[in-house]
Amino acid sequence: MEEGSASGQQTKGPMPSTSGNETYSAAVTKSPPKVARKDTGRKVLEALDGHFHLDRIMGKSAKVSEMIQMPLRQAHDSQMRLSGGVAVFCDPAKYPHHILQTVDVPGFVAPIGVHPRHVLSWNAPQKEAFKILVRSPHTKALGEIGLDFTAKGIKKQEEVLQYLLRGSADTAKPVILQLRGRKGHEDEAYHRGLNLPEACLPREQPIQLHCFSGGADVVARWQRRFPNSYMGFSDLVDSFNEHQKRGLEAVPANRLLLETDAPYLTPNLYIKGRVNTPHRIGEVATLVSQFTVPRTVGYFYCLRRQFLCN
Ligand SMILES: [Zn+2]
Repeated sequence: MEEGSASGQQTKGPMPSTSGNETYSAAVTKSPPKVARKDTGRKVLEALDGHFHLDRIMGKSAKVSEMIQMPLRQAHDSQMRLSGGVAVFCDPAKYPHHILQTVDVPGFVAPIGVHPRHVLSWNAPQKEAFKILVRSPHTKALGEIGLDFTAKGIKKQEEVLQYLLRGSADTAKPVILQLRGRKGHEDEAYHRGLNLPEACLPREQPIQLHCFSGGADVVARWQRRFPNSYMGFSDLVDSFNEHQKRGLEAVPANRLLLETDAPYLTPNLYIKGRVNTPHRIGEVATLVSQFTVPRTVGYFYCLRRQFLCN
């Protein structure tokens, strides 16, 4: 997501708006979800936040350890506890100097990308910084990158996306894609957005479709072409139409990720009007679970380390 988003649907919350490594492709394990117990004796599932923007929550030089210590803003009855996540850096002006020092808590990883809204101003020094960071063994994925049809310069966006995807073969890292269509034209963005990955990436490439909002035929098409494509769902599901809900239902449980997209898309389920943080992943899980009948919140343990973190 991105500040100044044109479509109101993606700018909920006080501010407007993916990774892994070699374990990224090993998406499913048969082991049961890790369960912790609170003092109350109630079971709590551990969850990963598949997508948040640390730099936009806390500033350029923030660390994950500092974010973790923010006051908890999750609902008291949340069944999930944050145990890791994906701190996305896609603002070239705010790239961290040292990935390891920034992502300083086990379970958290950082991808590097260029948000489609920044491609028009992506300058030569930023490009050099990107090249160094994306090749670092500590950078676990390429993203977020993609196409935003609500923003200007779609031709330039496609040109940069092609450049980034072609280069990704050298790094062999998972790709986090944002394919954002105009309201009512979400499917079109996913269909058109498949062309470049099809031309540039191998079939087994792990891909995360960030803030997914497509229909069931989009899910089927991407799964056919890229069996290791994952769909991330956020608080946006709260405003899904029937077509999008069918899309959510069509995603295999082991390809479904939860994302807060913090600081954007604040879930207003229990606590209204607060800044979103990864701590609120339990609220996103509750929202998503409403539309995945007969699935339960328990399914979301596919977010565990096997996908995005080691
Ligand atoms: Zn984002």
